[in-house]
Amino acid sequence: MITTPRQKPVFRFAPSPNGPLHLGHALSAFLNDDMARAADGRLLLRIEDIDLTRCTPEFEAGIYADLTWLEIEWEQLVRRQSEHFAEYQAALHSLIERGLVYPSFLTRGEVKTRVAAYERISGPWPRDPDGTPHYPADDRDRSEEERDTMLLSGLKHAWRLDMNRAMELIGEPLFWTETGDERKGEILAEPAAWGDVVLSRSDAPSSYHLSVVIDDALQGVTHVVRGLDLFHATSVHRLLQNLLNLPQPVYHHHRLVVDADGRKLSKSEGDTGLAELRAKGLSAADIRRLVGL
Ligand code: GLU
Repeated sequence: MITTPRQKPVFRFAPSPNGPLHLGHALSAFLNDDMARAADGRLLLRIEDIDLTRCTPEFEAGIYADLTWLEIEWEQLVRRQSEHFAEYQAALHSLIERGLVYPSFLTRGEVKTRVAAYERISGPWPRDPDGTPHYPADDRDRSEEERDTMLLSGLKHAWRLDMNRAMELIGEPLFWTETGDERKGEILAEPAAWGDVVLSRSDAPSSYHLSVVIDDALQGVTHVVRGLDLFHATSVHRLLQNLLNLPQPVYHHHRLVVDADGRKLSKSEGDTGLAELRAKGLSAADIRRLVGL
């Protein structure tokens, strides 16, 4: 009898080198490493550096140093997103061709003014799960000729998903499988809560949402283990997977490490920075204890 070899589960830790790693990243890296080992799986490291204005080689070097000190073992080669913009652009173009993505020209200031004007008269404007106002419909309703003229004139623009059209096209509810700390089971994806999300900006040729789903698929990721702060973003990821015909991994959103005041850690907080803790002589075991493992 011929048996096909079992595909090993694939996990990934995907930090952005836009600041030093902190204890929250350590928890995520430990959980990925532990879960990959327990499942006899593989652990990949992906450097999510699409934001060329904020990511630096120094922060990337810091990631390798911190993970080595934490005794995390990841597979070579590391995928660096900034080396794959052409792949994200190809996916974006396929969505543009299908009329699911449109160029948006309003500046942040213009959006703010429109939202404030609306709210003075008509009450609250819809906001996404991160609290950002939904993008106004101005650009969505432009004629093709007008769009082309604006694009040809060299106006700065981003590319946004036409959420209504995308939802119409899907036509059925989307779910993802969640094994995380807060909710488990089949979770209903609610991408419409995000409005017309940006998939590419004038200063960054891909967005987090677009590159994360493409990379997870290209790298054969079967298990996404990441912080609960990205729980709601998963709705957008499920939608993009569906539109781009990509497989869906299982998701595990873990608790966040918080500071003494119960706030989520940020990359600017020195005392929870891994480099500082390493310099103080703490060990990987100490950090495991500090993050509650
Ligand atoms: N690059 C993201 C971050 O550093 C994580 C993305 C993910 O795990 O999906 O917050």
